[in-house]
Amino acid sequence: MTAARVRAWDPADGARRATELFRARFAAEPDGVWSAPGRVNLIGEHTDYNGGLCLPIALPHRTYVALGTADDGRVRLTSAQEDRSTWEMPLASVVPGAVDGWPGYAAGVAWSLTVEQPDARLGGFAAAVDSCVPYGAGLSSSAALECAVAVALDDVFAVGLAATDAGRARLAHACIRAENEVAGAATGGMDQTAALRASAGHALLYDTRDGSVQHLPFDLAAHGLALLVVDTRAPHRLVDGQYAARRDTCAAAALHLGVDTLREVTDLDAALAALDTELTSPAGATVAPEVLRARTRHVVTEIARVERFVELLAQGRVAEVGPLLDASHASLRDDYQVSCAELDVAVEAARGAGALGARMTGGGFGGSAIALVPVDAVDAVAAAVSTAFDAAGFTAPAFLVADAAGPAGRTA
Ligand code: ADP
Ligand code: MG
Repeated sequence: MTAARVRAWDPADGARRATELFRARFAAEPDGVWSAPGRVNLIGEHTDYNGGLCLPIALPHRTYVALGTADDGRVRLTSAQEDRSTWEMPLASVVPGAVDGWPGYAAGVAWSLTVEQPDARLGGFAAAVDSCVPYGAGLSSSAALECAVAVALDDVFAVGLAATDAGRARLAHACIRAENEVAGAATGGMDQTAALRASAGHALLYDTRDGSVQHLPFDLAAHGLALLVVDTRAPHRLVDGQYAARRDTCAAAALHLGVDTLREVTDLDAALAALDTELTSPAGATVAPEVLRARTRHVVTEIARVERFVELLAQGRVAEVGPLLDASHASLRDDYQVSCAELDVAVEAARGAGALGARMTGGGFGGSAIALVPVDAVDAVAAAVSTAFDAAGFTAPAFLVADAAGPAGRTA
């Protein structure tokens, strides 16, 4: 069985596509093209809202935005991934609650940028979007869109935040607010941080407690390895309240333990022993002690796995991280309960065909899995996953090989 590969566009090709869509839709020339990457998280899942650590890389797959300023104060948006009609609204009317659907992710950034950076003087603009980031695959097409728009607006309206890492952290914050408050989707911040602050050839160690990042050299090819990403094509169903429920449970556990976040738990056994009663969460849910313990165990052990992964990377022992990936998957499946049949099958089949380790990545309930694979076994592992999906009656998966690529910026 041949496995479908989702190839990353050459940046010049992405810029050409976005520019052509802009010309066709707006009968004008854009001021330029900006782009931002999707991301895949190596390890550290569901830690970003717990003050924890995560370790994403930016994908070579990017979202391209051709953008030009408009004198009439209106925002016009079109996307090759949507129905290509033009969405339109006065900039002044773009506020939380006013924008439905995908334009919220893009126009929302214009709102949040002004809120975050009150001296930014934004005006109307038109933007045409095209992307090779798999859509809704847990590879963060949403942050790629927000962050591409953010660097474009930052540039054409001379806001100047994209020039420094501190400025990019502010842009990331604006993008998070756009996604949370305008698009109305919960997100913890890893995606936007990866898209804006990652660097090519490096994994990004993001400490969500203080917002700091470290760039760790990440070159699997030098070790004869590759990172195979499996897009399960199972719709990821974070919207159904599971994500909010996990956040709420973690908040309840932290509150009971008397810590700001679960990052502050230093003695896991003592914490588990203390979580011995049913609690009412901040959102008013009743949470059983065994659920509190399982969620806490995942978060605390997952943060420790990130630390161990980073140590191995620093020692040039990336070939040894496989068991950490496997343990992360087991923890997400059993303790955090955010896996699903497609993810479990992908991970099992990859391991059975020679992957050194594999796990679900992203929020879960669908989306993508990653497998650490010897370069010469990539095709065999992909074929084995496809065969297993076929046997299970699942939609055929798609694959991509992830190299650590560069952050959002101007492309043309
Ligand atoms: P993920 O970020 O994992 O791909 P999300 O559900 O968070 O999945 O975000 C997907 C949504 O983001 C899409 O349904 C759409 O609303 C918006 N989006 C992402 N990329 C684009 C694009 N190229 N054009 C228009 N909307 C996009
Ligand atoms: Mg997303």
